Amino acid sequence: MEFSTFGDKFARYSGITQLMDDLNDGLRNPDAIMLGGGNPAQIPEMVEYFNQLCSQMAATGELTQALTNYDGPQGKNVFINALAQLLKSRYGWNISAKNIALTNGSQSAFFNLFNLLAGDFKNGTKKKILLPLAPEYIGYGDSGLSEKMFISYKPEISLLKNGLFKYHVDFNHLVVDNSIGAICASRPTNPTGNVLTNEEIHHLDQLAREHNIPLIIDNAYGMPFPDIIFEDVTPFWNDNTILCMSLSKLGLPGVRCGIVVASEEIATAIANMNGVLSLAPGSVGPAIGYKMIEQNDLMRLSEDVIKPFYLRKSKHAVEMLQQAITDSRFRIHKPEGAMFLWLWFKDLPISTMELYRRLKARGVLIVPGEYFFIGLDEDWQHGHECLRMNYVQEDEVMRKGIAIIAEEVERAYQEQ
Ligand code: PLP
Repeated sequence: MEFSTFGDKFARYSGITQLMDDLNDGLRNPDAIMLGGGNPAQIPEMVEYFNQLCSQMAATGELTQALTNYDGPQGKNVFINALAQLLKSRYGWNISAKNIALTNGSQSAFFNLFNLLAGDFKNGTKKKILLPLAPEYIGYGDSGLSEKMFISYKPEISLLKNGLFKYHVDFNHLVVDNSIGAICASRPTNPTGNVLTNEEIHHLDQLAREHNIPLIIDNAYGMPFPDIIFEDVTPFWNDNTILCMSLSKLGLPGVRCGIVVASEEIATAIANMNGVLSLAPGSVGPAIGYKMIEQNDLMRLSEDVIKPFYLRKSKHAVEMLQQAITDSRFRIHKPEGAMFLWLWFKDLPISTMELYRRLKARGVLIVPGEYFFIGLDEDWQHGHECLRMNYVQEDEVMRKGIAIIAEEVERAYQEQ
């Protein structure tokens, strides 16, 4: 069948669709070692908490209420009000419910925001989304309605002690001009676990303000929830910032609840787009989120259960990797947050796309680095030398997966 230009672009098999397929296959195949996807961990305390909360909400009728009613296009009001209050009191941000709109997962918020702020404009100009530091989140890659919606820049790399390294925004090369419609960065970053410093965020904010464009901060892993952030940094928002949050990494990816905190103009635009695209965002996630705020559990569980769980897992995965792979060309990006480790095999004779195929044949799923350099205008060798590994599986599964990665990497290095 002949598809429209829109169909050609969105119905083709994109990187993100492949990733979600692999994730789904991995979840269905009990023998697969799934170090690829972005599914949050099944943290026993959280699973137990959600079981109890859902039973409680079923008993009071609140769950049925959420299941049997549409919310408005902005999303469930009680949750939005409670969240505005929480962010205001905790961080002193000058926001009200009018600054918030919900979406069906933050993934769909990014689609709407990118196409709202970049692409073709009435006066004939074209604008792009600037990703100041590649590698960036794979899910942005295919979301532009126009071709070449993204531009990104290579980072500065500092080599750290203990086999680690860290990326920094290379402000000397970053160009912001009137071809840029918005700046966007994930913090913590998927895939690297990097957390942009307060200075980097202030610098990006200043650049955005100077050019009268918004700064989008993807806070899917950040503060105040799910708080998978191991560095002492300050959350950031002002009326030129679009802060995107999600209930997914709290442990609720199935409810598909994204949260946009922005100026009233942007929040209203998102609510209007919701009306056209989905009538209203789903109600169950916000109903659960509201109960969690009401019972003072949202931040308590993020700080006391979720953050420590991921911190322990990440440290353990780094230890296991460094024991298994002793080649001095191997480095790990300093784990500062999110649920991934970003592994760099300098001078690897094969691409990580090839490594991905070899690992998949042995039942281990990772994501090759090549996917994450969205909008970079050169084929950078470094991108073929890195891969993303999720560290949320059980320790024994992690150990087996890492052993297979170590064998395949050693074999590949011998091929030169
Ligand atoms: N942003 C980042 C950085 C992510 O890693 C993800 C999911 O993995 C998303 C956004 C989208 O998450 P969701 O649509 O589940 O809110």
